[in-house]
Amino acid sequence: MTNVQVLIAIVLLQQGFFGLVWLGAAWLRLARRPALHWGATTLLLAAGMALLIERDAIGPWAGRALPYVVNVLAFAVARRGIQRFARLRVTDAEHAGVVALTAAAVVASVAGVVDPAVARVAGTAGMAWSLLRGGAELVRGLRREFGALAAWACSVPLWLIAALLALRGASPLWSGHRAGLPLTVDTGVNVALMFAFIALGMMLNAGLCAMVVLRLVRRLQHLSRHDALTGVLNRRGLELALQVEHERLRRYGRPYALVAVDIDSFKRINDTHGHAAGDAVLAGLADTLRGSCRELDRVARTGGEEFCVLLPEADLGAAERAARRLLGEVRARRFDVADGSLRVTVSLGVVVADDRDESPDALWRRVDRALYAAKDGGRDRAVLAAAGASAPQPLAA
Ligand code: GH3
Ligand code: MG
Ligand code: MG
Repeated sequence: MTNVQVLIAIVLLQQGFFGLVWLGAAWLRLARRPALHWGATTLLLAAGMALLIERDAIGPWAGRALPYVVNVLAFAVARRGIQRFARLRVTDAEHAGVVALTAAAVVASVAGVVDPAVARVAGTAGMAWSLLRGGAELVRGLRREFGALAAWACSVPLWLIAALLALRGASPLWSGHRAGLPLTVDTGVNVALMFAFIALGMMLNAGLCAMVVLRLVRRLQHLSRHDALTGVLNRRGLELALQVEHERLRRYGRPYALVAVDIDSFKRINDTHGHAAGDAVLAGLADTLRGSCRELDRVARTGGEEFCVLLPEADLGAAERAARRLLGEVRARRFDVADGSLRVTVSLGVVVADDRDESPDALWRRVDRALYAAKDGGRDRAVLAAAGASAPQPLAA
């Protein structure tokens, strides 16, 4: 085997390997549709390469025409996968047009209707088009989600592959070999080209794999910190946010407030209107809380029908205003359920953290005490448990 044949075998193995990786990812439902596209791309490229290697043995149609069409199709499929992964518009008419134009040019040239150079130019242009446009779409669609560096790291190999293909397509202009030097001939240029394809293929597939995994990790992270029913933070998510605020209080003395929100007589809603109506009220209340908060404030569902609002940079006056606003907005809202609409009220326990030595655990105990006092006081009201005060005091009713 010559050097270039060994390298071609490595490219084939590499494509086969990544093909299996993508099909495995699709089977595991990791970015299923893009993974299926990229699996198909690598397998098509491997098939195109196998046809190229055997082009003298299998005759002009299969050996000359098909590899171009298969490769152009492979890159169009890759680009379609990128569009799906980046959640961009899928441009099927354009993909079909690129493949059809290439096929027409290649068929006409192999049939002797036009010069053979037309097949080479059309094939190269078809591949380069999908690669260049796909690279641009990767940057446009994924820069915000993964950062510019990661998006560019995946796009640059696509553009470099396009440039190498264009160079190879144009090589007859200076090499004097009219039909283009076959890839299988052991020349320095072909060896360098194969090395470049191996390196770029590795970079591209590894980059895309990393993005798929990163998206999954972020999704899991999001699920571990958010409540599935309402979409607001769960208790763990709130505790993490609370740690940050507490650290700020310790270091810079910035106070913050915590408001516990408990729906009044919620069990009765479940009993009267059904569990689904109860769920609708929970989702609606989460909406109301989010809507009545500042952008910096964090809303969390900390238990069945219990919520909490974390108010960074809030002193007693700000916490009192927020509590009054929350009570008013919940009272004013009608919650749509299957058999009509209903109103609810909430009880609020309010604390302001301004003591650098108080632990978050002590703060939780204080806010619980305030909430119990609001319930005991008749519900639909806010009660403050001030640090060091012997008894909670009503804030707003
Ligand atoms: P209080 O005014 O004292 O807070 O009374 P309450 O009825 O609101 O409180 P209680 O703790 O007695 O009842 C809470 C109910 O919340 C009981 C439970 O079935 C219901 N619940 C907890 N989680 C969910 C949920 O995810 N969906 C629905 N629909 N109900 C839930
Ligand atoms: Mg309740
Ligand atoms: Mg409760």
